[in-house]
Amino acid sequence: MIETRILSGREVASSVYRELEPRIKNLLKEEITPGLAAIIVGDDPSSKLYVKNKAKRFESLGLYSKIFLLSASSSYNDIIEKISDLNNDDRFHGILVQQPLPKDIDIGLILESIDPKKDVDGFHPENMGLLACGNHRFIACTPKGIIRIFKHFQIDTTGKHTVVVGRSNIVGKPMSLLLSSKLSFGNSTVTICHSKTKDLSRITKQADILIASVGVPNLIKGNMIKENAIIIDVGITRVNNNSKKGFSLVGDVDIESIRGIANSVTPVPGGVGPMTIAMLVENTIEAAEQYN
Ligand code: NAP
Repeated sequence: MIETRILSGREVASSVYRELEPRIKNLLKEEITPGLAAIIVGDDPSSKLYVKNKAKRFESLGLYSKIFLLSASSSYNDIIEKISDLNNDDRFHGILVQQPLPKDIDIGLILESIDPKKDVDGFHPENMGLLACGNHRFIACTPKGIIRIFKHFQIDTTGKHTVVVGRSNIVGKPMSLLLSSKLSFGNSTVTICHSKTKDLSRITKQADILIASVGVPNLIKGNMIKENAIIIDVGITRVNNNSKKGFSLVGDVDIESIRGIANSVTPVPGGVGPMTIAMLVENTIEAAEQYN
């Protein structure tokens, strides 16, 4: 029986923060405090929690961040106006708009209005385009964090069959671009699956590396994976229960059923999530260095 290794994202994130310390010190010495502006539109409790966690991390590292709360009834123009102000505000080297936005707001148009040089989430079409061309400025934080997990645990992606379940612009798509690139952490043969994929488990069973970014709790079971596969669980779904908090965070992977079959797996929480925040910090520091 295989002893399935837990790939702790918290451990990798701590090492990223240690590596960033001298770069932060250099910027502070030059009187530049890397700054992040985070916009939340509406009252989604998960969005507020995610952004609060990001802000806390910035504060703990001596960086600057500010949250801008816009009401759920904000118009497209209200949001664009706020972004335009922030594009011209020297305190902020990075701007992020927390998703989801209210249903009637076109996220694509909102993202396009962010200065690409402040787009530390890496979602602007210019930055996505650079990534697709094998070049990059800012790489989306979650896929970038997953690559960092591979590097830290010396997981070689070259020649491997990687299956990515989910084709979102923020995870699945950039992830598949990175893994199929000619960069040292790419060179994988990538298959992308989504809700219209037929016989999902026939494909997931072929994966040497399986990355799930779906948002369906416990979708991936032990009988859907290949022996010795490396499993990356991006999904985070709030599931209500009788605990003190009233809910728990559940990943896309049924971790108990893959134990003893998978080579390794990222936990939820404590896997990909902390890496997404670490990469946001890294991208903001990069933006501040480039501004300098
Ligand atoms: P998303 O925009 O929510 O889209 C979900 C994707 O999964 C879509 O491509 C959808 O297919 C596909 N899908 C849905 N049901 C499926 C099924 N039964 N079988 C196969 N594919 C299916 O994706 P996302 O933004 O990447 O988010 C996914 C999950 O990751 C969420 O739980 C989110 O909270 C979490 N997340 C976590 C982090 C982190 O830092 N850990 C970061 C980002 C997201 P279609 O395209 O056909 O609709």
